[in-house]
Amino acid sequence: MTDDVFYDSPTPLEAGLKCCCPRCGQGKLFQGFLKLAPKCDQCGLDYGFADPADGPAFFVMSGVGIVVTAFFAWAEVAWQPPIWVHLVTTFPALILGCLATLRPVKSWLVAAQYINKAEEGRFESLGRHDFDERRL
Ligand SMILES: [Zn+2]
Repeated sequence: MTDDVFYDSPTPLEAGLKCCCPRCGQGKLFQGFLKLAPKCDQCGLDYGFADPADGPAFFVMSGVGIVVTAFFAWAEVAWQPPIWVHLVTTFPALILGCLATLRPVKSWLVAAQYINKAEEGRFESLGRHDFDERRL
């Protein structure tokens, strides 16, 4: 019996928005808020390949930071509100914006790793560093 099963895999963007398994699109990707499950509970895909590292945090902080800071600057120029208005609008917008988008972005990057078969770079040894064939 072969292990070849056809999966109607979602696109990385679909898998990211649904926070689901990048192979079957049904299983859960996360065990907690941001902790990845060890494997898919539907198709058994081992999530050991997934290592987005700091990528999701970087993209989320950059994207949300740019949008919220632009809104902050626009509001400051247009209305000159008191500082407490920014404390109750800008800071919560930064925090909630980051929390709301971190899971989908992490899921999207894991799905992109799976689809593109991305993994950590490896070096092949070419021999000793002091060895030069031309000197022979
Ligand atoms: Zn799955």
